[in-house]
Amino acid sequence: MQKIQNYINGQLVAPVAEQYIDNYNPATGRLYALIPDSDEQDVEQAVQAARAAFPAWAATPAEKRGQLMLRIADLIDEHLERLAEAESIDNGKPLKLARTVDIPRASSNMRFYGTAIQHFASEAHYMEGTEAINYTVRHPHGVAGCISPWNLPLYLFTWKIAPALAAGNCVVAKPSEVTPMTAYLLSELCMEAGLPPGVLNIVHGYGHKVGAAITAHPKVPVISFTGGTATGRTIAATAAPMFKKLSLELGGKNPNIIFADCDFNNALHTAIHSSFANQGQICLCGSRIFIERPRYDKFKTAFVEKVKSLTVGDPLEEGTRLGAVVSGQHMQKILSYIELARREGGTILTGGHQVQVEGRCSGGWFVAPTVIEGLPYNCRTNTEEIFGPVVTLTPFDTEEEVLGYANCTDYGLAATIWTQNLPRAHRVAHQLQAGIVWINTWLLRDLRTPFGGMKHSGVGREGGFEALRFFTEAQNVCVKL
Ligand code: NDP
Repeated sequence: MQKIQNYINGQLVAPVAEQYIDNYNPATGRLYALIPDSDEQDVEQAVQAARAAFPAWAATPAEKRGQLMLRIADLIDEHLERLAEAESIDNGKPLKLARTVDIPRASSNMRFYGTAIQHFASEAHYMEGTEAINYTVRHPHGVAGCISPWNLPLYLFTWKIAPALAAGNCVVAKPSEVTPMTAYLLSELCMEAGLPPGVLNIVHGYGHKVGAAITAHPKVPVISFTGGTATGRTIAATAAPMFKKLSLELGGKNPNIIFADCDFNNALHTAIHSSFANQGQICLCGSRIFIERPRYDKFKTAFVEKVKSLTVGDPLEEGTRLGAVVSGQHMQKILSYIELARREGGTILTGGHQVQVEGRCSGGWFVAPTVIEGLPYNCRTNTEEIFGPVVTLTPFDTEEEVLGYANCTDYGLAATIWTQNLPRAHRVAHQLQAGIVWINTWLLRDLRTPFGGMKHSGVGREGGFEALRFFTEAQNVCVKL
């Protein structure tokens, strides 16, 4: 049985209390690895190591920091197959998805910020008449706490640690305890790349122990968190009275708005992807599909037919479109929402049940892609995040009506619009309460753009220079000439 270790001060180490948590393969339901059940003692060691490494790392020229990050990116690329397989086994996602999306994006994150920091110029403001000049220096904070979720494990883990490290911070990071494997493998690659001890520390374990200890630690002044809205609220409650700088990327319940004049085949094809990619476990998935009434029946028929043809099965098999959901507990949550949809008066057009996969995966946690119609736009099924392969279909008649539907939840992460009418596309986009809007596409990502949500979907933005600003403290110096 593989035993994962913490990565502290450049070494792979066992947790101080020598306690471990079981790690399951969601596709088989079998125990396959042990994860450190770390606590405040391990976090304390990690923070001390990060504090000791900080002065030298902050003083290392940005170019040199960038070179080390590019070396890590190269190693991720070299180990693509091994990392993709580990991600698929740990998370349940199709191997193909891990190989083409998750792992390549992890190396892109390191590469992007390893080079972005070279272009991160400081500002200067000359005061005409007064004959003074201001220049703004950006200092790294010291130790940054980075906490990430299980749905895109290495992808989101690196999306946080890359800008933090590039900006000159040292990091204490915690991957989700449900999917720790690729973060553990990354620690080996960091050692191979020659990252100085203490610059990155990875402490594995439960959120309520390790995550909470990082959040509450007085020597960790900045916290970057991606996860559920309820956890974000807990973190904010701890961090706010300590005046910590916080970035919160939280849940979503994203609308996918299809106008009658859309490119139908493109909208249909992409809607399959935006509904069920990664078993619907992407914060950006469009789980509420609103279709303009003249196209409702045509879309419903074609969509349901396509959904019925999606293969649910062994994530390691090439033809699989939907793998396992991340855990037995999460599967029960998804199924209970499908039950709720029935009670709320919804009609299940396809799916609505657990899938029993034969052979190796007979003990795994699989849910059929599920399409529901006939629900009020503001019922619980349509306003709470399910985070699984479940979407609802709702017809609409006017722009005003669909904007009301789309904006009625507490969330405001992402939205998609399908129309050939350009003025309408922009008009609707600007009225949507969503931090990210896609028009005639979905999940097309430019890493330079601000990424994040409105309302209960988060606080602050990641991406591009936004993240480098977040991971630095601005200091203005005014010189009278
Ligand atoms: P959770 O909020 O349950 O967990 C996220 C991370 O926080 C995990 O590492 C978790 O550890 C840790 N954690 C849990 N409790 C605490 C605590 N009290 N203090 C500090 N850390 C804690 O989210 P999930 O892992 O279930 O991820 C799914 C959620 O993430 C969805 O809501 C999804 O929408 C959101 N998400 C948002 C994205 C965005 O960019 N806005 C992107 C991807 C996902 P542990 O695993 O041990 O519980």
